[in-house]
Amino acid sequence: MRIFSGIQPTGRKHLGNYVGAIRQYVAGQERAVEAGGDAIFCIVDLHATTVQYDPAELRERLYDTTALLLAAGLDPARCVLFRQSDVQEHAELCWLLCSVTAHGDLNRMHQFKDKSAQQRELVSAGLFLYPTLMAADVLAYRATEVPVGDDQRQHVELMRDIALRFNARFAAEREPVLVVPEHRIPEVGARIMDLQEPTRKMSTSSSSVEGTLYVLEEPAALVKKFKRAVTDSDNEIRFDRAAKPGVSNLLELLAVARGTTIADAQASMADARGYGDLKLATAEAVDGLLAPVRERYAELRPDEAAIEEALGAGAEKARAIASGVLADVREVMGVGPRR
Ligand code: ATP
Ligand code: MG
Repeated sequence: MRIFSGIQPTGRKHLGNYVGAIRQYVAGQERAVEAGGDAIFCIVDLHATTVQYDPAELRERLYDTTALLLAAGLDPARCVLFRQSDVQEHAELCWLLCSVTAHGDLNRMHQFKDKSAQQRELVSAGLFLYPTLMAADVLAYRATEVPVGDDQRQHVELMRDIALRFNARFAAEREPVLVVPEHRIPEVGARIMDLQEPTRKMSTSSSSVEGTLYVLEEPAALVKKFKRAVTDSDNEIRFDRAAKPGVSNLLELLAVARGTTIADAQASMADARGYGDLKLATAEAVDGLLAPVRERYAELRPDEAAIEEALGAGAEKARAIASGVLADVREVMGVGPRR
């Protein structure tokens, strides 16, 4: 068993990232250690260059994101944690996989449609190829599982198609070269919604500051954002995503933060006097979930040398795996000399 996932070093990481992805990484690390497998996590700086960005800021955000993953519980002694651009195999494999990526498939990706509509200056070819680079990230490690939020379902489907097409085209007469991975999307918390627009996912690039709850949010601001969360005009605390998106989002967060089911979270609010009680209970539970991460982060973030060292060691371990896979890929594709 081998788990792989990536996270972009953009913006400030939010509760959706934490619940949908980061806490699954930590759980995956523990499962991998138990099963004698590997858990590999990558801060995908090359993905971050696909939209308008500030180069100096990218480097800062990379340290922010790495420190946050460490604060959340990833342990470089128990997993592989590295920076995508340190391992050149990702970019090379992306190009090679372009040969089995259909232009039409990239064209119908929801993320490409959404993000290209947001770009004011230029819709980059990189944004279009984002799913192929993401396929390369995972396939370069022959990963079997990919923990992601619900918004990445379509990209994981596409990478499965790419792996299957690659094996059929280049390895039909031999053992498959690439492994077709499964997505691992959590049952609860796979799609945390924007607190102000609860029919849209909480997003780094398209949510407002008011609608986004940051992992490192100060307690006072955290309570304020929950108090102001958009709900609806009746007064019934009931989970119904379609009819009551705001209330359902709060119930889902309450359940995740307390480690209970949504039904239990709803039952616990049976005596509530109104949405105010639900908002406060959720704020309290979420603060309890995030406070230890906030504290660890404050300790870890200042030491950039230690972060670099951890990333350097991670990159070496990652390269050892990816270079072997790339040698096989080049061989079956007829690229480069026979050695
Ligand atoms: P952007 O909006 O710019 O794409 P993002 O907020 O989606 O940024 P990413 O780094 O692209 O952040 O995503 C990291 C991980 O977080 C992915 O696995 C993604 O599925 C997950 N994720 C993102 N938003 C949410 C959300 N609202 N709920 C649950 N999981 C999420
Ligand atoms: Mg995203």
